[in-house]
Amino acid sequence: MSARIARVAVAAPLHSLFDYQIPATVEVAVGSRVRVSFGHTRPIGVVVEIVDSTDRPGDSLKSLEAVLDREPLLRQQELDFLTWAAAYYHHPVGETVAAALPLRLRKADKMLPAGEPVWALTAEGRQLPHDLARRAPRQAEILGWLSALPTGQAPQAVLRAALPDSGATLRALQGKGWIKPLELPATSDVIIQRDGGPRPNPEQLAVLDALSGDIGRFAVSLLDGVTGSGKTEVYLRLSAAVLARGKGVLVLVPEISLTPQLLARFRERLGDTVRVLHSGLTESEREQTWQRMRRGLSHVLLGTRSAIFTPLADLGLVVVDEEHDPSFKQTEGFRYSARDLAVVRAQRSGCPVVLGSATPSLESLRNAQLGRYRQLRLDRRAGRAQSPRIDLLDIRDQPLRAGMSRPLLDRVAAVLGAGEQVMLFLNRRGYAPVLSCFSCGWLSDCPHCDARQTLHKASGLLCCHHCGAQRRVPLACPACGAEDLHPLGQGTEQLEGFLTEHFADYPLIRIDRDATSRKGSLERQLARLHQARAALLVGTQMLAKGHHFPRVTLVGVVDADGGLYSADYRSTERMAQLLVQVAGRAGRGDRPGQVLIQTRYPDYPLLQTLVRHGYRAFAEQALSERAAAGLPPFSHQALLRADATRLADAESFLDGVADWARRQAIAEVELWGPVPAPMVRRAGRHRAHLLIQAPQRDALHVLLQALSEFIVGLPKIRRVRWSLDVDPIDLY
Ligand code: ADP
Ligand code: ZN
Ligand code: ZN
Repeated sequence: MSARIARVAVAAPLHSLFDYQIPATVEVAVGSRVRVSFGHTRPIGVVVEIVDSTDRPGDSLKSLEAVLDREPLLRQQELDFLTWAAAYYHHPVGETVAAALPLRLRKADKMLPAGEPVWALTAEGRQLPHDLARRAPRQAEILGWLSALPTGQAPQAVLRAALPDSGATLRALQGKGWIKPLELPATSDVIIQRDGGPRPNPEQLAVLDALSGDIGRFAVSLLDGVTGSGKTEVYLRLSAAVLARGKGVLVLVPEISLTPQLLARFRERLGDTVRVLHSGLTESEREQTWQRMRRGLSHVLLGTRSAIFTPLADLGLVVVDEEHDPSFKQTEGFRYSARDLAVVRAQRSGCPVVLGSATPSLESLRNAQLGRYRQLRLDRRAGRAQSPRIDLLDIRDQPLRAGMSRPLLDRVAAVLGAGEQVMLFLNRRGYAPVLSCFSCGWLSDCPHCDARQTLHKASGLLCCHHCGAQRRVPLACPACGAEDLHPLGQGTEQLEGFLTEHFADYPLIRIDRDATSRKGSLERQLARLHQARAALLVGTQMLAKGHHFPRVTLVGVVDADGGLYSADYRSTERMAQLLVQVAGRAGRGDRPGQVLIQTRYPDYPLLQTLVRHGYRAFAEQALSERAAAGLPPFSHQALLRADATRLADAESFLDGVADWARRQAIAEVELWGPVPAPMVRRAGRHRAHLLIQAPQRDALHVLLQALSEFIVGLPKIRRVRWSLDVDPIDLY
């Protein structure tokens, strides 16, 4: 039949689009939300396509019930990108499209006005009571910040980015009548192009030259530059060039904790048109930013992985900083890789994408070898900083105190004595990973997982880092009653306690998820550090990421052995990246840095290659090992996970799927398993998985397409939950 038909991505866990007749009197555009009738429900959907024929017989076709938006929320280009992602990850298309909308707009709510809230000083607010700084330092800080601006006013988003965690204080100031909210009309941010910034060095110039030639067309570049080589400087200059052509820039960063420093640098050079999007914002702030980007009122977006779905008006450049970082992969629900999607997004937008890292992923290096990505290198640190010297410290015969050997302690003392800063890295938070009874051998097992509960001494709790279960630390052994409980191993809390006593004269700052869980506390800790001279910094991998600590000249890696003998084939790559990133924090100022890595396996080939020849040599070696084993990036994988309260239920579900898949006999697709997951029991559920692997992506996807249809069509399996992970990054 022929008519106007809307193909709708319905917000429900369904894999196909659904067709609805558009009533003759109704106007609707692609990208608008509509209400439809679906079984017994009336969900919302987004129109993805308007066509004039359907395979479905005319009389069974229902009509759209209502059109919610006059102005479409998403453009054709974005819808194409989203439907591509849904198909690639075998994720329900309606849920995928919803990922591109702010929470409120996933429901029937109206769009907020595009004007943004602005805070302005009142006449009273300009007269700072002189003792306010003492009585209410946060209030004084905000008033001071506003009065330093010529207009005495700033958009809320700008203010909150400069002064994180200020929501309650703003309300307090409003209550006192010292500031007031203004609603400004939606205007485009002025694009500022301040000169400033260091003159690019010859290496940077060569890279910029190559990248500038890509503006206006799709091209993928892997910017492989050692830490401190001036990659960010390259992003800034390239962004400025793209802005000058009236286009927008999307910059993805792995961690919310990285955004303040980067934001400050981008704002300093490009002005307030630089906006952020991450999980630390309120919903209305997120929607505001989304709106401004969509309408082209702001032009640069800095965000964590989900920012990849923001519909920037006229995208001209995508940057993925620290592209190797596993946090670009969403590991629950819609399991996408923002790094991989960035490449597709750029392709759809016809613009260049830059993947930057000091430790590129093996996937990206492989793509560069194959000529799919252009590899650009920055081999020297920019400015005056030199590369740090890295040494292994054999601790096989060393007595340890809180994990620290005598030689490491001596170096720390010397560096502090010279007025410089030390960073100690231990990738385990808490006091100790296990509590044990020395009388009967009891261990602090988690009742719900195949894992131990970690001792958190300060809070007096045993906590499971996998399911979150916690209990009070027992005074006596729960099994035999002996008062003979002892912590085994060490975490950052223990290291902190020991060092605070040992180096009582120096400030110590701990940075891990426990110490910085309050909003804004990481920024405050970092600010303290930037003011201090000699100081100690103790932390987990949160420290390794991108931060710039110019006074740190010694980095100690307390325990490098954790990742060396793991079941996951990616663990050596992760370990190498982490070590190099941590090492990269040393000596970023004028003084040279040193890195000391404590290990019981100083002859381990990976460590040797890494220390003697650097990351690239390591990566080459790791790539040839992967090639020999036929592992990614030399093959492609998908992981079908299942869990149930009884392992047998999960396994029999997977057995059924595996039997079916083997009968499809798609050439070259291999099936491994089902096998129990490395940690079988987690949060009370028993887990197993089926690994599907093929040398070519196409064959894998032919099977996955049929497989997800097969599973969806199975009679409802109540006891079993399942998920499909395309390009999994771990087997847990
Ligand atoms: P990366 O992103 O590769 O770690 P950055 O861009 O942050 O490197 O640069 C590291 C440091 O070197 C920063 O303090 C930056 O201001 C400085 N820098 C970058 N490029 C130059 C240059 N051409 N000349 C002098 N200093 C530079
Ligand atoms: Zn006991
Ligand atoms: Zn647990």
